[in-house]
Amino acid sequence: MNKYDVIIVGSGLGGLECGAILSKEGFNVCVLEKNELFGGCFQTYTRRGRLLDTGIHYVGSLGEGQIMNQYFRYFGIMDKLDIRRLDEACFDRICYNNTTYDFAMGHERFVDTLSEHFPTERENLRRYTSILKDVGNLINVDSLKKGLFTNGGFQYFEMSAAKTIADITSNPTLRNVLAGSSLLYGGVKEKSTFYHHGMVNNSYIEGAYRFVKGSMQVSDTLIEVIRSNGGTVRNNSEVTRIIVEDEQAKGVIVNGGERIEGRYIISNVHPKRTFELTDKSRSIRNAYLSRINSLENTYGVFTLYLIMKKDTYPYINRNTYIHGNKNVWYDKTEHIGTTRSCMISSQTSLLNGDFAEVISILTPMYMDELLEWENTTPEKRGDAYRRFKEKKANDILAFLAEQGISFDGQVEAQYTTTPLSYRDYTATVEGSAYGIIKNYKYPQAGFISSRTKIGNLLLTGQNLNLHGALGVTLTSMITCAGLVGEEYLAKKVGNA
Ligand SMILES: Cc1cc2nc3c(=O)[nH]c(=O)nc-3n(C[C@H](O)[C@H](O)[C@H](O)COP(=O)(O)OP(=O)(O)OC[C@H]3O[C@@H](n4cnc5c(N)ncnc54)[C@H](O)[C@@H]3O)c2cc1C
Repeated sequence: MNKYDVIIVGSGLGGLECGAILSKEGFNVCVLEKNELFGGCFQTYTRRGRLLDTGIHYVGSLGEGQIMNQYFRYFGIMDKLDIRRLDEACFDRICYNNTTYDFAMGHERFVDTLSEHFPTERENLRRYTSILKDVGNLINVDSLKKGLFTNGGFQYFEMSAAKTIADITSNPTLRNVLAGSSLLYGGVKEKSTFYHHGMVNNSYIEGAYRFVKGSMQVSDTLIEVIRSNGGTVRNNSEVTRIIVEDEQAKGVIVNGGERIEGRYIISNVHPKRTFELTDKSRSIRNAYLSRINSLENTYGVFTLYLIMKKDTYPYINRNTYIHGNKNVWYDKTEHIGTTRSCMISSQTSLLNGDFAEVISILTPMYMDELLEWENTTPEKRGDAYRRFKEKKANDILAFLAEQGISFDGQVEAQYTTTPLSYRDYTATVEGSAYGIIKNYKYPQAGFISSRTKIGNLLLTGQNLNLHGALGVTLTSMITCAGLVGEEYLAKKVGNA
């Protein structure tokens, strides 16, 4: 069989969700993944028998009646997932200026908890959560039932996250605390939109959950859905060309040889990479390509995984964001080569839920720090790269020790990844963590439609609108609505 209704390039969350939606709708789909493991950033790999997540530490709006829960219910996977609700009293802890501030679940409780530190700011905190809710409510289950995936909200793309927070409160500490988890969206003070800040923060305040056995379970269950609907999902199948003839996408070339034909092609790969793979055509204008190629991407992430000795370090049912600077927003000029902020996330043990099996420590990193190795490939980057990673890991541990956090005697082994790992495994441009930056100053420039000028070539994934589990799922819906109709699909999802 080498002819399908829909060929999907890439098996990240976006590709698998498009495959699941369209196979449920009777399309004969084929998802092609270049790597051995499926899932892209929703991939979990094993070291020393422990599960290491590549790109998911927690997911929001997964509670009953919430939007992510509804999406997963529609896919038929919600009840198959092994998830754990983070601590309601504190799902995120922000450590700033030698004090800890807890983010509690539920908007009221969030206000109450922070008001203990900022008693005169209660009203401002109410205004803050109210505007977060406004952003979050742009996508909700009621709208789905009415046949709409989103209620617009473009105005929030034009609003600066930092400035909106500053307009809400003049208290400098509270401003930093509210922006304390901006690593979640690649936050940069001069660029980040309030849409991204609002969507991400609101979803976690609504309901924050962790995948107990790694995020790969989402990929595995979506693959089951596709296969049970007669679809094909193939690994080790790199799309090396998207064939365009007579201004129509005809199919793809896999691994430089095999030709597979499709009526539609959906690319889950970064748009810049997608158009590098696509045959030149009159329909895709140079001006469009120049725009795509010139768009900036978010910073990448350096991750230090600590494999903990059995039953030594308690599992902590929240994430911690540690800031060593007065300004919590990541500033490349100030931070490069040093570690002044990071996020810590624990993974519970499969055998004993009271102890952490793996602790992931994440800190922003741009490719600028890795230029020496930019022309290398995985496992062949040499000793200097290994030493660089070791030094970075030691810097992180020294920074944490300064902040009073130590893992001495409890670590069995450690592993690291850099933006180069993401560039080479998931083909994200410059190893960016979340893809194309949406800059509130130029909101139109960063907005990429799922439709292209080649009518049967569509885009999906984190670069289009919003990244993360929530953003990518919303975009998958919008991409597939292009084939089956928005009102029809939204109502189906809303009534699932
Ligand atoms: C370190 C890190 C931590 C994160 N933490 C969170 C979190 O806690 N919560 C959250 O919601 N989000 C988090 N995110 C973001 C989230 O993981 C991503 O936004 C999301 O998974 C991206 O999904 P995607 O489908 O757009 O792309 P990807 O996951 O990048 O998938 C793209 C897929 O395409 C494949 N591919 C590329 N080129 C080809 C080709 N030529 N042929 C075939 N296949 C190809 C790749 O191998 C990959 O499988 C995190 C991201 C990172 C990097």
